Amino acid sequence: MFGLTEYRFADSLDQADKLLHHDKDNTILGGLLWMRMGRKNYHTGIDLSKLSLDQITETKDTVEIGCMTTLRQIETSRLLNNNFGNILTDSVAHIVGVQFRNSATIGGSVFSRFSFSDILTALLALDTRVHLYRGGTLPLEKFMTLPPKKDILIKLSLKKKGWKTSYQSHRMTATDFPVLAAGISLCKGQWKICLGSRPARATLAEKAAALLPERPDKKQIQAACDQVVEELKFGSNQRGTREYRQILARILVKRGIEALCR
Ligand SMILES: Cc1cc2nc3c(=O)[nH]c(=O)nc-3n(C[C@H](O)[C@H](O)[C@H](O)COP(=O)(O)OP(=O)(O)OC[C@H]3O[C@@H](n4cnc5c(N)ncnc54)[C@H](O)[C@@H]3O)c2cc1C
Repeated sequence: MFGLTEYRFADSLDQADKLLHHDKDNTILGGLLWMRMGRKNYHTGIDLSKLSLDQITETKDTVEIGCMTTLRQIETSRLLNNNFGNILTDSVAHIVGVQFRNSATIGGSVFSRFSFSDILTALLALDTRVHLYRGGTLPLEKFMTLPPKKDILIKLSLKKKGWKTSYQSHRMTATDFPVLAAGISLCKGQWKICLGSRPARATLAEKAAALLPERPDKKQIQAACDQVVEELKFGSNQRGTREYRQILARILVKRGIEALCR
């Protein structure tokens, strides 16, 4: 279990930011489910839960998800479902269990950029922006490439555009980390194909997506699946070999595309 010398509720983002940078061992607290697996001793833990950042709201063009929103809120949100289909619900549904998802936050999930992340695989298949206190607003794709740096993830914003989406994953047991995950979307004739847990971090297969017309036939789907394996690097770990993941990639991507062609 990790340790804290002090526990502070932030009264504002400004105060949270000052506290975070006051000492190298100060840290932001999300739902603590990942942090509690570690043994690090921090100085001050900064709790953002009094800042009303646990809400899913909409503007004219976007849906915004505050950093303290739980994975369960995301799973059950009608607003997200109406705008983005089942992709977000399906991406979190296998993460441990309902009680766990009632505590795990989107801020902790996105800021950590876990390579096995289901939710990042789904968010990358949409048009997602990350709002950082110091780092400003940037596309999730860009955020994924940046080196780790202390900051506060305030919220995500997802562009509403009329999405059709599908989420596919393969796991050894229902609640294990995914062996491979795929987020597929179609929006205004443009496809996005994202593969996560390869076991490297979620990445878009842009060339494969570009091969697909709005209503692809079997040959075109097959060509896109082949291109995914050509374009992305797959590796081996205790959950599966590189070759196994390449086979799974073809299957999950095909299923995802076909689901959107019905
Ligand atoms: C046993 C277990 C199984 C899991 N299985 C899966 C799985 O199958 N698929 C999957 O996708 N995920 C899985 N996860 C990850 C999980 O879904 C969450 O992503 C993870 O617990 C982090 O969320 P949290 O709220 O608990 O963050 P915390 O543990 O509280 O924080 C994690 C890190 O993020 C930082 N942080 C938190 N919030 C912010 C913020 N707003 N701004 C800046 N930094 C912040 C913290 O300082 C810390 O470094 C699993 C986790 C565990 C523990």
